[in-house]
Amino acid sequence: MCIPNIKNAYENIVHACEKRLKELYPLGVPKEIAVRYKTELEWLEHSEFLDDFEIFRLLSEEGKKTSQYMTFRGMAPSSFLIYLLGYNRLNPLKAHYYCRKCGHLEVVNTHLFGIDLPKISCPVCNEELVGDGFNLPLESVWGTDGKKHISFDYNICSEFLPFAKRVIQKIYPENEVVSYGLMVGNPNNYRIDPAKLEVKHYGYVVLPKGRCLADYPEITTYLEDGEPCITSLCNTIEQYNLKRIMLMPLDTIEHLMQLQRKSGIYAHEIGINELRELTYYDLTNSKSMGVEEDRVFIHETPQNYHEMVKYNAMGHNSTFVVKHPLENSVDWYYEVKEKILNNADFQKYPCVTREDFFDYMVECGLDRPEAYKFSEIIRKGRSPREPEFDALSIPEELKNVAKMYAYVFPRAHCIEYLLMYARMAYYMKWDSRVYSSVINKK
Ligand SMILES: [Zn+2]
Ligand SMILES: [Zn+2]
Repeated sequence: MCIPNIKNAYENIVHACEKRLKELYPLGVPKEIAVRYKTELEWLEHSEFLDDFEIFRLLSEEGKKTSQYMTFRGMAPSSFLIYLLGYNRLNPLKAHYYCRKCGHLEVVNTHLFGIDLPKISCPVCNEELVGDGFNLPLESVWGTDGKKHISFDYNICSEFLPFAKRVIQKIYPENEVVSYGLMVGNPNNYRIDPAKLEVKHYGYVVLPKGRCLADYPEITTYLEDGEPCITSLCNTIEQYNLKRIMLMPLDTIEHLMQLQRKSGIYAHEIGINELRELTYYDLTNSKSMGVEEDRVFIHETPQNYHEMVKYNAMGHNSTFVVKHPLENSVDWYYEVKEKILNNADFQKYPCVTREDFFDYMVECGLDRPEAYKFSEIIRKGRSPREPEFDALSIPEELKNVAKMYAYVFPRAHCIEYLLMYARMAYYMKWDSRVYSSVINKK
């Protein structure tokens, strides 16, 4: 007994992507971009996550009506298809300029993101060009063969939940759709206080045809308001053949939606042209970042989005050399400064995301599948115990940096966070009084 496949999912996705490509590239899709698109499409056709792309497409269509702000918690933003299917998603291609007037594409060989690049004149037709592209490699989301596990977990504003439910009910007309709840403690503290545990409404679960909640007493619990819901983690859900769509409300997104209503400025219309004007101190002034993120920003004064990602990711990584910020909030930054930022190997190879390792290994001559394989080993903290990694012909300094890490955060998730903070900063600069009234509830 399984959840049925969504009819025409692939065809609908292709149709939507082609339509969007025509808007983005009115003079035809440049060859480099077409290659990425075709590869992803081929993999999608046989992917076990095809339905998740289609659900994303339909949720986006619904969300766009009320300009809902939605972000992903995993690697999905690295997909070019996700960029095409959403509205105002981040562009995952390598840093580049594209001229809409004459169709000229210029891929820039840099570690910076497109948003960090200066304006230039088109070398062909002289039109003013701005950069785009957050340099998220194909492998990040698809692996080397299109078979990598892709998680589709969303952060949303809670007001979107009932709309999402209706979308899911329309997709699965013969199945019952019930709430999904997850027991969570204080997200800012490692030590769980049983008194503060709460079952939060984190999305929906689709039940197999003919089944209802009463058939799953062992994985049923209650939300705070008494509504029964399915709980338990990803693998259990899969064992029961249930389909989970995880939609986690996030405070910052609740604030963004309130700011949207109070300002009349749609959050999704704050695009990369508006965001490129913002600086690190705008982001820290918006007070939407975590304490440790904020501290690194103030001390290190990042000069562009690429550096902001670097310093933001540090608070999400775990290393063997510095204690996790949640365990050591007082001295954390100073330890990071001494043991990581000032480390000569790190200064040569400043890797803070999995993709940084991937990029540097490719630059050092590894082929892409190999670079991907070892970036996975590094991000799981296995590089110190992997003889194969030691044997690689890459610089020792790069290996030393890798061996500092017990866990490495993905670039995509980090950029999602930063663009969210940057949009908060945009609203703050637009009207600091309205902003304060929302943030401080005054
Ligand atoms: Zn041009
Ligand atoms: Zn899973």
